[in-house]
Amino acid sequence: MVIKKNSNNERCEKWRENNREKYLKYKREWTREKRLKNPEFKREETIKKCQKYYKDPDIRKKRSDYMKKYYQKNKEKIKKKQLEYYHLPKNKEKNKSRGITDRFFNKYPNFIPIMCFKCKGTKKLEIHHDVYPITLEQTIMAIKNKKIYYLCFSCHRKIHRKYYSITFKT
Ligand SMILES: [Zn+2]
Repeated sequence: MVIKKNSNNERCEKWRENNREKYLKYKREWTREKRLKNPEFKREETIKKCQKYYKDPDIRKKRSDYMKKYYQKNKEKIKKKQLEYYHLPKNKEKNKSRGITDRFFNKYPNFIPIMCFKCKGTKKLEIHHDVYPITLEQTIMAIKNKKIYYLCFSCHRKIHRKYYSITFKT
């Protein structure tokens, strides 16, 4: 039997589509094995590929649509996981610090200009922590030293997505 290259490709693609989980699992195992033999295997190349991939506007749109849909579908599950994460013992101090900061800004919202520290926007503001002090005095110092400040939703996400920070201009 002669298999045309094209039809073979198509068949492979179809199989991958229908067996996505399996395909991803094989791919991961294959890469892991290669990497065990050679720790630098494809690392640079992979990083470059990822960067290109995540910069593509179509891909970004697709991912964001998918994520929105996923969030709507699994809202309860995600919220529960988030709560669990916030209450892990290792995050206890961070939460204490967030509490102190929230209470402070509720009381003195004008202590610093109410605008995004990066883009000066005024919509969907959140508080960003570079540090997590656990006393009020330290918190006030941190705010004065611009270690705790307002960021808009979009700038806040960008700053926490350090891996993709190439797209983030300060
Ligand atoms: Zn902003």
